[in-house]
Amino acid sequence: QKEEWAKLVNEKTLSSDGVQVELAANIGTPADVKGVLENGAEGVGLYRTEFLYMGRDQLPTEDEQFKAYKEVLDKMEGKPVVIRTLDIGGDKELPYLNLPKELNPFLGFRAIRLCLEEQDIFRTQLRALLRASTYGNLKIMFPMIATLGEFRSAKSILMEEKEKLVNEGTKVSDDIEVGIMVEIPSTAVMADTFAKEVDFFSIGTNDLIQYTMAADRMNEQVSYLYQPYNPAILRLVKMVIDAAHKEGKWTGMCGEMAGDPIAIPILLGLGLDEFSMSATSVLPARSQILNLSKEKISAHIEQILQMDTMDDVVKFAEENF
Ligand code: PEP
Ligand code: MG
Repeated sequence: QKEEWAKLVNEKTLSSDGVQVELAANIGTPADVKGVLENGAEGVGLYRTEFLYMGRDQLPTEDEQFKAYKEVLDKMEGKPVVIRTLDIGGDKELPYLNLPKELNPFLGFRAIRLCLEEQDIFRTQLRALLRASTYGNLKIMFPMIATLGEFRSAKSILMEEKEKLVNEGTKVSDDIEVGIMVEIPSTAVMADTFAKEVDFFSIGTNDLIQYTMAADRMNEQVSYLYQPYNPAILRLVKMVIDAAHKEGKWTGMCGEMAGDPIAIPILLGLGLDEFSMSATSVLPARSQILNLSKEKISAHIEQILQMDTMDDVVKFAEENF
């Protein structure tokens, strides 16, 4: 099997009926790019920038960040690179920010909420990203967006920093796509509205599942509720993809579900455009998709979305795809 996969490193990802999708990889540091390329990923679908901020005692400077972002863009040689702005809070703490302890950190002051409040931190990161943008195909993504207002605020801060840099004589790319993570149910439900203003969506199922099912993704005792194939999740995913396509935008997925062999056929049938996963899952996923007919799966999608339980969905997928 390994030999068969190795042959696919430089191949496109096409279904058996000729529909092309993009298989990208998730990374945490520039050093991870090596594995991305060795495993034949067509892009970076999620660069979790938190790691630049963690395991140290002060914030990374603009230059430190610029170097990291430039290194990833350089090494990816023009392939798409989605860099997510700081998603701290929840399970990821930064002791040096001295943030007050919260009763419900996953529902609290984190990610874009923190960035819109602590704007120095946010603006420094955005400047580093904008300066790096001329070295490759950069797409900027905001995490944990719950309202259109948050997206508009984040985007307008980005545009302010861009204008400042341009006025200072710094080159900034003019075609940076700006998108959001869809990981909060309100945003999935309102995807049609968001789709008019964002350039792309990336569905963060790790959080979308925990927030939709109200089940902590780290808590073993409620892990039975962590159900990627629950029709509730699949219906939300469909809403997001359909809303994007209606506006001519694309939808990716960068949660664990995107690399899951049971989910992949369903996601292909739903019309997902980009699948971002751990690098080692890329070749198995490509090999799987080569043998799937999108048209055949699509014909079953309505039936799947009407199923009663996750178990029904899994049983159907295992028997038919
Ligand atoms: C997600 O929530 O699905 C996601 C990709 O982000 P993270 O796992 O970093 O929260
Ligand atoms: Mg998340």
